Amino acid sequence: MNTNSWVQDQVLNTNTIPVYVGNLAIGAGQPIIMAGPCAVESEEQMMRIGKAVAAAGAHVLRGGAYKPRTNVQSFQGLGLAGLELLRKTGDALGIPVVTEVVSPADVDLVASYADILQIGSRNMHNYPLLLEVGRTRKPVLLKRGYAATIEEWLAAADYIAAGGNNQIILCERGIRTFSTETRNTFDISAICLAKMKSPYPVIADPSHAAGIPSLVPHLARAAIAAGADGLLIEVHDRPEEALCDGGQALLPEVFRQLVHSVRTITEG
Ligand code: PEP
Ligand code: MN
Repeated sequence: MNTNSWVQDQVLNTNTIPVYVGNLAIGAGQPIIMAGPCAVESEEQMMRIGKAVAAAGAHVLRGGAYKPRTNVQSFQGLGLAGLELLRKTGDALGIPVVTEVVSPADVDLVASYADILQIGSRNMHNYPLLLEVGRTRKPVLLKRGYAATIEEWLAAADYIAAGGNNQIILCERGIRTFSTETRNTFDISAICLAKMKSPYPVIADPSHAAGIPSLVPHLARAAIAAGADGLLIEVHDRPEEALCDGGQALLPEVFRQLVHSVRTITEG
């Protein structure tokens, strides 16, 4: 056995139980790619970007309707109108949709529009919210808190599972460290460790980790090589006009190349 296969065996020697979104299996071997803009902005914007990411090979369309922004003056999302536009776009393209829920009171509403409920990094410690999504039977994408240990992240997943919902997908999205060149520091070890220590699929979000588009494809490939079950990538066709996180969004053509290069890793 050479060193490479030994390393891979360690990573892949996990007990990941796939999470199903319709027919789509997350954590079953094929990397699942979720992509779209940070925020739902308009019907035209969602359709343009949705078409582009679906054509490039994305399996799931993302788009935030409720945006937990650092500054209260920043665009906070379209709310219900955003949920409707995301659902409409996903249905038109025939792909499932993922969107963030930020308040326990909105869980049922968001669950009625989304195929996957996203818990954002800032809300990983929001225990009432975790319990509430645990009462649904929708898959939950649980982002790692930007200052959370792996144990705290897995303990947050326990809150969701406590309600009987074990359709949990973990997402490493970078953590805050002393390094300020990137938006966050991408913790690749966490991908491997979360897979080894839990039965949940683990995906990676290099967009929020890097905060810099040119780094995103490299981190995406690193994540897949480390054993990630998929990726969450922000894409915008007019990043300079984006209402949220335009500075880290990939252009559709760069995203298309990323999907291709990720496939070369897994298909050899
Ligand atoms: C997002 O996915 O747009 C987002 C807000 O991510 P995070 O919670 O990781 O900051
Ligand atoms: Mn974002």
